[in-house]
Amino acid sequence: MSTTQEFVIDLLIDGKLVRGEGQAETLVNPATGRVLGEVPEASLEQIDQAVAAARKAFPAWSQLPPGKRSALLLKIADRIEQEGAAFAQIESLNVGKPYERMLEDEIPGVVDNIRFFAGAARCLTGLAAGEYAANHTSIIRRDPVGVVGAIAPWNFPLAMATWKIFAPIAVGNTVVMKPSENTPLTALKLGSILAEMLPPGVVNIVTGRGQTVGQALGEHPDINMMSITGDVTTGQKVLQAATGNLKRTHLELGGKAPVIVMADADLEAVVATVRSAGFYNAGQDCCAACRIYVHESVHDTLVAALKEAVSSIKLGPTDQAGTELGPLISARQRERVAGFVDRAKDQPHIQVITGGKHVAGNGFYYEPTLVVGALQTDEIVQREVFGPVVSVTSFQDVDQVIGWANDSRYGLASSVWTRDAKTAAKVSARLQYGTTWVNQHFTLLSEMPHGGMKMSGYGKDQSIYCLEDYTVVRHVMMNFE
Ligand code: NAD
Repeated sequence: MSTTQEFVIDLLIDGKLVRGEGQAETLVNPATGRVLGEVPEASLEQIDQAVAAARKAFPAWSQLPPGKRSALLLKIADRIEQEGAAFAQIESLNVGKPYERMLEDEIPGVVDNIRFFAGAARCLTGLAAGEYAANHTSIIRRDPVGVVGAIAPWNFPLAMATWKIFAPIAVGNTVVMKPSENTPLTALKLGSILAEMLPPGVVNIVTGRGQTVGQALGEHPDINMMSITGDVTTGQKVLQAATGNLKRTHLELGGKAPVIVMADADLEAVVATVRSAGFYNAGQDCCAACRIYVHESVHDTLVAALKEAVSSIKLGPTDQAGTELGPLISARQRERVAGFVDRAKDQPHIQVITGGKHVAGNGFYYEPTLVVGALQTDEIVQREVFGPVVSVTSFQDVDQVIGWANDSRYGLASSVWTRDAKTAAKVSARLQYGTTWVNQHFTLLSEMPHGGMKMSGYGKDQSIYCLEDYTVVRHVMMNFE
């Protein structure tokens, strides 16, 4: 991978690439600490222009037959696939992701999502039309909401941009999308492609900070729906801002996934999965397998195997083949993660059995860390760390562990590990999480819904359910008396 990449830093407004007129944001490569460049944010006037362009594009785009929209999306998916290496390189530099992982895991997922939305938007179903009053035919329509304001986080910038842009436009909405101010580069490259491939205004991409550009989108009277993936407090701000014109909201917020390991679990499989799903993307993942509850009878065996597995995770330069763990997004995020681990270490009942330190050098690396002996009430069990840190807590019986797993403000993802079908059914039926995997953790599929309960938010990404979220059910009644 070369590092001579030129970055696109222009916004996409009304089909044109334009330089942001607001304050510039400095971008840093998290793997080296070196400055990558500056991206100016959108001014308030440019935000208005982007929203106006999306409004103007809406009638024609929403009335285009689904097959025609789908054909455009399929071409865009092909183009992203062709340019996968360039996208992966930019994302790796901007986010600190191991290049190989980005290219092999995330790019195929992004391409598959767009192809799925392209096909699924042609297959929306509804109740049969019928005569529910004499001489009147009732039909159900699923129509687009209008202009969607879409806001993405920094942990999976291209993947989140894909979910937030292509699902809404597949069903006829138009979009004004804001990537994270820290990681806008792949969204802006995508914008330069969409400028060529979509009618003007269907997708607009504006960069900028949450409190300026994000807030302005949330409050904008000409936006009909806000879709955000981010922190719980950000979701709350978007929800408050949306009250002005009663926007619909779609909130994908934080998570703290419990991993319930019963006494009869396949421990080898648990260890292999936690090694990857607990530490993928340096643990900066809302579904990260970060909160292990293990039955007391297998606690020590699991901990010993996990210690060996976690300490073998290959941390290294992001452009080096075989690197498994990259840096955290920023020095600030690393301080935050270290703070959680240091406070955990201060508890007499907790042991940090591997990791727990900064890695020397200019990048924002933190060692893969295993925290053992944590109690249900400990901060490390209750709060989202968003770093390469997994805690282990011992439990005695199934009711206790279901209670603990559900004793969380979050409700996004969870897993249960057992060889017994009845236990799997009982535990998964009682967990309050949008997803429960059994003998699995972290496989997301374009066909299956991803979304939370409780303070992880509401609304689904991926799947036909997401397309339902981006459409409104309407009743049309025709009198033929
Ligand atoms: P963040 O909430 O700080 O930022 C997310 C986005 O919101 C950014 O684009 C930011 O600029 C914007 N924003 C901030 N304040 C805003 C405001 N007042 N109005 C509108 N937009 C605003 O989150 P982050 O640190 O970028 O990402 C990490 C968080 O995202 C974690 O909590 C993680 O769990 C969550 N996340 C959730 C999912 C999911 O599917 N549920 C997926 C990925 C990440």
